Amino acid sequence: MVPSLATTALPLHYCFQSKQRSRWLSQLTELIAFPTISALPQHRKDITFCAQWLARHLAEIGLQHIQVLPGPKGGHPSVYADWLQAPGKPTLLLYGHYDVQPVDPLKEWRTPPFKATIIGDKLFARGASDDKGQLFIHLKAIESYLRTSGSLPLNIKIWLEGEEEIGSPNLSAFLNREAKQLQADAVLVSDTEMLGPNRPSIIYGLRGNLNCELEVSGSRHDLHSGRYGGAVHNPLQALSEMIARLHDHKGRVAIPGFYGRVRELEPAQRQEIRCSCARHQQILTDLDLPAGWGEAGYSLFERMTSRPALTINGIAGGYTGPGAKSVIPSRGLAHFSFRLVPDQEPTEIAQLLRPHIAAITPPAIRSRLKITGGSRPVLLPIRSSVMQAAVRAVQQTWAVSPVFTRSGGTIPLVEQLHRHLRVPIVLLGFGLPNDDIHAPNEKMNLPTFFRGIETVIRFMAEYAT
Ligand SMILES: [Zn+2]
Repeated sequence: MVPSLATTALPLHYCFQSKQRSRWLSQLTELIAFPTISALPQHRKDITFCAQWLARHLAEIGLQHIQVLPGPKGGHPSVYADWLQAPGKPTLLLYGHYDVQPVDPLKEWRTPPFKATIIGDKLFARGASDDKGQLFIHLKAIESYLRTSGSLPLNIKIWLEGEEEIGSPNLSAFLNREAKQLQADAVLVSDTEMLGPNRPSIIYGLRGNLNCELEVSGSRHDLHSGRYGGAVHNPLQALSEMIARLHDHKGRVAIPGFYGRVRELEPAQRQEIRCSCARHQQILTDLDLPAGWGEAGYSLFERMTSRPALTINGIAGGYTGPGAKSVIPSRGLAHFSFRLVPDQEPTEIAQLLRPHIAAITPPAIRSRLKITGGSRPVLLPIRSSVMQAAVRAVQQTWAVSPVFTRSGGTIPLVEQLHRHLRVPIVLLGFGLPNDDIHAPNEKMNLPTFFRGIETVIRFMAEYAT
């Protein structure tokens, strides 16, 4: 499209200059050096310092109205900035998060997690991909415009969150408080993955979740297994029996009514998944597993993204120290969680789960179920103008069309933004499946990083026209 080509010529030229690129990498190195682990209280100050660094950086690249917004209820701050000098043009909200996951096990890192280290064409560090590297893509696209044309083709608001990695506990309060400030015509989120280095994708669906804690108990205290073994039910055995009854022998969740609202994939979507997405054998090879597992009748990729799941996340109880202890433990604990797909509602699933747990609790045992959190699944409309602008930007940059895919993950932010702001959201991520986010040796593929900047430059022009 002619107008957008003219708009993007200067910023793209700037973005291709190697002196900018090496400067950007040293800036990213500074950003990564803040150990912004939101889960650990001892890093509270690092998070504040990082927010202040970002605020200064947003000012340096030419953004305005910069604010470090305190998190509600003592939560970590967000950083806000905007540039609203394109009257008559749409307003785009850019979202990213600058907090990161903990780094343990530290021993498994080959380079220090908070010292960005480039090896070949990869940059290794905690946050390199999730999400400091990806939010930096947005900032450098903005800089490319403001340093060359002196303006942006549309209005921009930017919001950088500091507690995404702990599940955005104060998000609802924050969005209620800042709804007016964040109001926009569309939102761009880059906090997801592409299918491969040359296979860009746009995620249009996310699974929701529901987190549960199940405690079973028998006698008030541990019992001697020599004295009572064989005569009283063991809570750990009961817990194992109950867990086994959460699925049927076909790998389906055995809770009555669980699949009632699951929206089936359309044949065309299944066909697209078959053609474009990870294949059975590839997934198994990547995971180093002899076989897959799960719901019969669906491919592994479908099970990972478009079908619901129930996962046991942890089991605790009894004695596992050295030697032997002749004991019948008095209690056992399991954490499990669901991934939910459209149109399953977390509250409804919780209501179906309670009677099922009651029904599978052995008579000699007491059980207590606690729901510890949940988030709805989302489906985003593919045909919105902002989504189509993203498609064109990807085509111009990568010479292929993006694959529309669903992700198996849950981003509570997307669901809440969708609900609070009622605007279209584009999930255009530049991470790669082997970036090892949340794990040791997290990395960002630098060619993808730079092409991400090109894509966002083009996307802004396309959405503005
Ligand atoms: Zn993230």
